[in-house]
Parts: sequence; structure tokens; C-alpha cells
Amino acid sequence: MVKILTISTHSRVEFIDITGDIERVAKELGVKSGICWMFVPHTTAGITINEGADPSVQSDIINQLDKIVPLHGDYHHLEGNSAAHIKASLIGCSDLVFIEDGRLKLGTWQSIYFCEFDGPRTRRLMVKITQQ
Ligand code: ZN
Repeated sequence: MVKILTISTHSRVEFIDITGDIERVAKELGVKSGICWMFVPHTTAGITINEGADPSVQSDIINQLDKIVPLHGDYHHLEGNSAAHIKASLIGCSDLVFIEDGRLKLGTWQSIYFCEFDGPRTRRLMVKITQQ
């Protein structure tokens, strides 16, 4: 079974900490040991796992992505949001985390982030947990 989470984003580019949402899904399903698969079914958003302790890490990633992939550039895509598509491909649209003893096995400083690159929008995140 795939669980769909709805995520409302509020800015054009934004990282949203969804660690608590994923933990809730794992708890609801009562999985003690397994793999949590997360998939973003969008072409201008992504998902990543990175430091959750210092919020400047997220803003540093966002600012550096803006330098690598400027909003306006020599793009041909008619919709005008090529930068968002490129950032989404760089970050990726899926991730996974192991579950043991009913808990996400993230590193001490890790959090899970939904990455918006063309917001604000209402987004979806697919979550599937397979028991092992
Ligand atoms: Zn587009």
C-alpha cells in the first residue's frame, strides 16, 4: 500500500522538514523493522536527507543551487521553469530510510526534507513501507 502525504509549500524554493510526518506513517502502520521508501511524483520538486540541527545548512544548499542553476538562463523550456526542473533532477525524486525497533534509523543530525523548487503549490509525497 502506498500512503500519499499532502504537502503545502509556501515559497518558490523551500525545504520542508517532513521527518515527523514520515515517523507518523511508520507508527500508524505499526512497522517494527522495514524500509520506508519515499517518492516525489513531481518534476519540479525533490527529496533529500541532510542536517536538521542548523537551518543555515538548508539555506546554504538553496543558495548554492541558485548559483549553480540561476532562475533565468539560456533555457528553452516554454513553461519558463527550467531552473526548477534542473534542481529537481540534481536533488532527486526518491529516498529511503531503514526502520528498526519502530523508529527511523536516521543519523544523529539527519532530517528528511521535501524540496520545493517551483512553489508555492500543493504537492504529494508517496510513502511505502515494506516490512522485513
Ligand atoms: Zn516546466
